[in-house]
This record gives sequence, C-alpha cells and structure tokens, in this order.
Amino acid sequence: NVRVRFCPSPTGNPHVGLVRTALFNWAFARHNQGTMVFRIEDTDAARDSEESYEQLLDSLRWLGLDWDEGPETGGPHAPYRQSQRMDIYQDVAEKLLAGGYAYHCYCTVTELDERREAARAAGRPSGYDGHCRDLTDEQKAVYQREGREAIVRFRMPDEPITFTDLVRGELTFTPDNVPDYGIVRASGAPLYTLVNPVDDALMEITHVLRGEDLLSSTPRQIALYKALIELGIAREIPAFGHLPYVMGEGNKKLSKRDPQASLNLYRERGFLPEGLLNYLSLLGWSFSADQDVFSIAEMIEKFDIADVNANPARFDLKKAEAINADHIRRLDVKTFAEACEPWLRAPHAPWAPEDFDQAAWEAIAPYAQTRLTVLSDITANVDFLFLPEPAEDEASWQKAMKEGSDALLRTAREKLADADWSSAESLKNAVLATGEEHGLKLGKAQAPVRVAVTGRTVGLPLFESLEILGRERTLQRIDAALT
Ligand code: GLU
Repeated sequence: NVRVRFCPSPTGNPHVGLVRTALFNWAFARHNQGTMVFRIEDTDAARDSEESYEQLLDSLRWLGLDWDEGPETGGPHAPYRQSQRMDIYQDVAEKLLAGGYAYHCYCTVTELDERREAARAAGRPSGYDGHCRDLTDEQKAVYQREGREAIVRFRMPDEPITFTDLVRGELTFTPDNVPDYGIVRASGAPLYTLVNPVDDALMEITHVLRGEDLLSSTPRQIALYKALIELGIAREIPAFGHLPYVMGEGNKKLSKRDPQASLNLYRERGFLPEGLLNYLSLLGWSFSADQDVFSIAEMIEKFDIADVNANPARFDLKKAEAINADHIRRLDVKTFAEACEPWLRAPHAPWAPEDFDQAAWEAIAPYAQTRLTVLSDITANVDFLFLPEPAEDEASWQKAMKEGSDALLRTAREKLADADWSSAESLKNAVLATGEEHGLKLGKAQAPVRVAVTGRTVGLPLFESLEILGRERTLQRIDAALT
C-alpha cells in the first residue's frame, strides 16, 4: 500500500516548486490507489504563519489536489500539524539518547567555528568533528558547571550509506560528507532533521518524493530511520525519489522569491488549475514524445516516478500559457463562461455591475473561448459590450485613424445602417463594400470601424462583435468617432 506525503512549511506564498512536489506525490498516490498524507511542518515558530497555512490549504483545494489524511480531514495519525506533536518528538529524542543513538553536545558556536576553520586550513573534512561523541560523566559535569547548554546530536554510523534513489539510481554518501548533526536545539525545540523522519515513520510513509535540494538530508534520515527501527518506532525505510531542480530566467534555479514562481500570480492571471497542473507535470516528467497537453485523469493513468528525469527542468512561461490556452479550448462553453466570471465583476471589470448584460456575454463567450490564453484577458476583450463608451486606447486610435479614415467611417456608417443586423455576414459585406469604394482590402477597411466601436485595434471577430453590440450602439459610436 503506497503512502506518500506532502509536507510543506507554512512560510511565505505557495510557489510553483512546491506545487510540482505536491502534484507528483498526488499523481503517484492516485496512480497506485495509495494514500496522500498532507502534513504541515510548522515547528519553526519564527518563520511559520497561520496566513501562509490557510493559503496552502486554499491553493491545494483550488488546484484540486486532495488529500486522504491531513488537516481538516483528519486520519489515523492525527494531528497532522507538527506544532501539535511536540510531545512525540521529545519522547523520541529521549529514546534516542537513552539508546546511545544520540548524545548531548556542549560545543559552543565559537568553538565549532574555530575548529571548522582549522580543519579547512589543514585540508580535513570541515563538518562536526565528533568532539562530544563519547564524553565521560566528569567531562559532562564540568561543561554543565560552566553553564553550557547542550543540543542533541545524532550519531552517524562510521560506514558509508548507500540507497537507490527512484530518480537518480544508486547513490553513496561517505561518513566524511555526513557528520553527526543536531536534532534538538538547546532550547528543547526539535529540528526538521528529527521531526520529518519521525513523522514519516509514524505515518508509515512508503515513498518520499521531494525536491533535489533535500538530497543531502537523505543519508542522515536513513541513518535515523535505522535507529528508529531498532527502537521499534519505525518499520521500514521508505523509498526516496528526488525531483529535479526547476530553472528560471538565465538558467538560474527558480527561487521561491522569484515573482515568476508565485502560484498566486498564475491564479490571478486566470490559469485553469488543469492547465497549470498539466504544465507543472512537465517539469521533470513527460507524458509522451509527441503529446504535451493532457487531462489530469490521463496524467494519473500514466504517471510513474521511474519516468522522472534527473536533469534540471526549465520553466517556460510561453509554453505554460500555450498549454493553458489549449485547456481553455477544451472546456464546454458553459464551464468556460463560468470560469470567466471573476473577471467580469469588480474589481477586475471596469464597468458598472448594472451595465453587465448576461445575454450579450453568453453570445460573445464562444468567440472569446477560442482566443484567450489566460482568463483574465476576457475583461479587455468584452469591455466594449458593457462600457457606455469604448475604452480609450490612445495607441489604437493613432494606429487606425489615418488620413481618409473619416470618409471611410462615413461610408461604413451608411452601409452598416442599411445592413441586416441579424447576420454577421451582412455586416461584413457592408464593410467589404465600404473598402471597395475606398480602394481598401477588408483588413484595412475594418480597422477604423473596430477602433471606433471597441476602442482597440485587436479583439474578438469584429462582425460578430458588432452584431452582439447591436445596430444602435454601433452607429452611435461611429458617429461619436466622427465628431
Ligand atoms: N518541510 C520541508 C520543506 O518544506 C519538507 C521537506 C521534505 O519533503 O522532506 O522543505
């Protein structure tokens, strides 16, 4: 039975790296009919915030990444917030100390720094040197009398640690590279190094899928796991798979502070959850050689951690947008219209709520659906229908209104006034005929009409737009442009 976990720390805003990790865990769980555990790693009171916690829950819900055990859902291993599990960690730390798997370390920061520098200068490994590993009771008493405070340090084995990473294959870490490490602060606060594997053990996690930045903590966690197994706390060491780095602009690692990395940005621009997830799944994985647009159900069906590529993945905004556009086309028109709603209301919409016309919206929606890249673009595409006057776009006026435009608009007004307003085709013919009179092709002839009526040089198909706006308002706007 597959059990995976997504265990973010609630700091800052959710970012795409985090979502990619959640997605791969979730897809792996769903593919294997396993269990998705959502755990909040909030033992760092200084950095964690309730607001960030709420945002995490909200983001996962928006994306549709559900969990079987976790906050609000509960489960057999509750609570799922580490801040509510402190007594568990204290208990495990005591057992590790009693069993000799961990020890008190009295070294001060200054001493550690000095010895690290000396080791570096001598070309020796510069990690913790094991100074307090085997202190006698007398030495400990001396340190305590000196008023030194002790952290709890885990005793790493003296042999290399080898494991088979699900993405990278067999990896070996030698003791020089993985010195004894702190698991409890002098204040008694347990560290990530302890609480993360302890909870993975207690929550019976079978597969740990996480970012490559955590690779170096894996040999430590495996050693700790072995101790937990000997103490009867853990059953089995989970399998580990480290997902590749995501690279941003200039081939630099995409940092969570990068504006491009913020999940909210994509949500506010009107990415569809399925479009964004589709794109994020391609950061390290591929669906097939010739298809990169697929549904979430298709992803679940195909997802295998063995197919994840160890090479860094490049974040490509253009590709993300193109994939999102494809997902917009795939919606049925009613769902599309509903998805656009937030952008048809305040604060996004510049028109008064009473000027919104549901029938006009339903009529124009199918034309918008085939053109949008992100849903937020809908506002500027349909504002001509709901604003009393077209939006003022200076650049569009300068581009479209040239010498002769007035004469052209006058002809267009005449011909449009006589056209059949129940047919976009008839409106098109009116503008075609206008162009012929002025020696202009359709594209050139329609530009001033479009700007006069919609305010912009680009937009949805013009003649359908005019038909939906109606005869009276169209002619009024052409008149207004002529004065
Ligand atoms: N709370 C850790 C983080 O957000 C989780 C790391 C892990 O998956 O082990 O980085």
